[in-house]
Amino acid sequence: MEGIYDLAVIGAGPAGLTAAIYAARARLKTVVLESFALVSQVSLTEEIENYPGFVEGIKGFELLQNFKRQAERFGAEFVLQEAVAIEKREKIWIIRTSPPGSVKSLAVIVATGASAKKLGIKGEDKFRGKGVSYCATCDGAFFRNKVVCVIGGGDTAVEEALFLTRFASKVKLIHRRQQLRAAKILQERVFSHFQVELVLNSLPQEIVGEGKVSGVKVLNKETRKENIIECEGVFIFVGNVPNTDFVKSLLGCDEGGYIEVDAGMKTSQEGIFACGDCCSKFLRQVVTACGDGAVAAFSVQKYLEDLKGITYN
Ligand code: NAP
Repeated sequence: MEGIYDLAVIGAGPAGLTAAIYAARARLKTVVLESFALVSQVSLTEEIENYPGFVEGIKGFELLQNFKRQAERFGAEFVLQEAVAIEKREKIWIIRTSPPGSVKSLAVIVATGASAKKLGIKGEDKFRGKGVSYCATCDGAFFRNKVVCVIGGGDTAVEEALFLTRFASKVKLIHRRQQLRAAKILQERVFSHFQVELVLNSLPQEIVGEGKVSGVKVLNKETRKENIIECEGVFIFVGNVPNTDFVKSLLGCDEGGYIEVDAGMKTSQEGIFACGDCCSKFLRQVVTACGDGAVAAFSVQKYLEDLKGITYN
């Protein structure tokens, strides 16, 4: 079994790192595959204020670093390689990676999370990186004393709109409905913030500008009239897509591409488990991702005991 891990965790967000903590602590030989390209969304979140135990909140990046240090403390190994395919040879799973390589393991946990969804309107690709952004933490400072638009009505859009008020002179929050989807506490903050202007019932049609962004063309759903909401930057937060392309042909997924798992985080393939935001589930939060990770690691432990014939009765 030289060079073969008990468990390979694909993804180093809250779900994957919690799984690694539990697995390493159960003395499973554990490796975590981290990706250059797919950074955890949590690491791009300025402040997390609903993860229990941190009364004043904690920076997303700091929380993730703590998870990683904790996993390393129990002996989990980390490799900077992105999984591109998984295949099986007898009872061993082989994860093909980029840069080219492979990791062999008896069990696999897929914890690859999700990435920002694109809006799919004219001008979005043209101005990407030139006024259009999907990350306020990364790009907010470029818009100091400027007017920006935020598109979306969920927790992310509202949180990021509030964050952007630190830099922008005005934040125009464009949402396609009359009411926001975000948590009530976030709505209260955004409604009472003097720098935030709400543009409701408005469907984004196009990001406009000559060389640089000058506004977002929207269609008012009541009046059916189009108008331009002027701004120099556009931040898009309209939900997520799961990072599951590399396993879609192998694992059962729902119509959105999220991996179907049972209560033990088992997938349709024996020996492959999944946890966190890449799974089909009811609530996507850091705390639920961590819970999933713990369950997945425990299921792996039981699976390996059966596989190795060392079941604890
Ligand atoms: P989300 O909850 O799916 O919200 C996406 C928003 O974008 C919705 O308001 C949606 O409008 C709008 N939208 C989607 N497609 C659109 C389109 N084509 N044109 C215009 N608007 C469009 O996504 P999220 O805010 O990124 O949150 C993802 C998950 O992470 C959620 O479970 C959320 O609770 C969680 N999260 C939690 C926290 C926290 O607890 N602090 C922070 C961030 C994220 P409709 O409302 O009309 O559907």
